[in-house]
Amino acid sequence: MKIVVLVKEVPDTYGDRVLDLETGLADRAASDRVLDEINERAIEVALSYADVHEGTEVVVLSMAPEESVATIRKALAIGAGSAVQVTDSALIGADLTVTAEVLAAALERIGFDLVIGGNLSTDGSGGVLPAMIAERLGVPQLTSLAHVEIGDGVVAGTRASDGGTADVRADLPAVISVTEALPDARFANLKGIMAAKKKPFETLSLTDLGVTIDVAASPQIILTEVGKKPPRGAGVKIVDEGDGGARLAAFLLENKLA
Ligand SMILES: Cc1cc2nc3c(=O)[nH]c(=O)nc-3n(C[C@H](O)[C@H](O)[C@H](O)COP(=O)(O)OP(=O)(O)OC[C@H]3O[C@@H](n4cnc5c(N)ncnc54)[C@H](O)[C@@H]3O)c2cc1C
Repeated sequence: MKIVVLVKEVPDTYGDRVLDLETGLADRAASDRVLDEINERAIEVALSYADVHEGTEVVVLSMAPEESVATIRKALAIGAGSAVQVTDSALIGADLTVTAEVLAAALERIGFDLVIGGNLSTDGSGGVLPAMIAERLGVPQLTSLAHVEIGDGVVAGTRASDGGTADVRADLPAVISVTEALPDARFANLKGIMAAKKKPFETLSLTDLGVTIDVAASPQIILTEVGKKPPRGAGVKIVDEGDGGARLAAFLLENKLA
């Protein structure tokens, strides 16, 4: 079984995240950069299966700027067996469509039985990339799984929605995405960190993948405006002077909250 986990480097959600208002891109230098936590959980799904199924290969794949190497190596330190990074200056500003095309091409080259991604990244928050990749590859997709079971030639899981849960399954090869309901990843210990330095790490360009893209010349999503979120107001403080309940009710009605 060959499992490829899609991983993305994101600005640390514990720090400040800055949007470059000129380009509309994340200002990567402004924040600490980390492996997205949802992707660590996706790695854990693959490793838990590999723990009890000898011969399972776990590969991590990322389309990311050159300087993301250390973050991708963290996935190796957690336990993935090898890594593939797609990087190319022509990909700066790549939108979801371009990213899906490039990652699908990389997956065709790597080969896979199962692809696991996060349901939503903490920076771009597109929430559709695994589905777009499955569509391009012509394989089934099970998205937003809160529980995953990988079997012989099959993957199954549970999708939770506001209205209930759905048990779903698909034959392999397939693409799935997982939610934060899945367990945290195991810890990258010193032994793992040392071992990661010697694990295979392949870097691919668009030429290596045989993909021709010029993001700057043919943007598929046209960014029309970028702005900062307005600062949060101080809010309304209601001090109860005997009429607190009535004032609270009036506030809720006035703001269409009741
Ligand atoms: C040179 C370069 C510069 C980039 N600069 C930026 C940037 O400034 N801001 C930005 O948000 N993105 C950047 N990217 C990455 C890429 O453009 C986005 O990953 C892409 O648009 C996906 O958007 P999303 O995070 O909203 O996807 P979502 O659909 O929310 O992601 C869901 C899941 O898909 C997988 N996934 C998403 N992106 C990737 C990826 N790149 N590689 C592997 N798996 C992935 C993960 O498993 C993730 O949990 C850059 C890429 C390159 C090569």
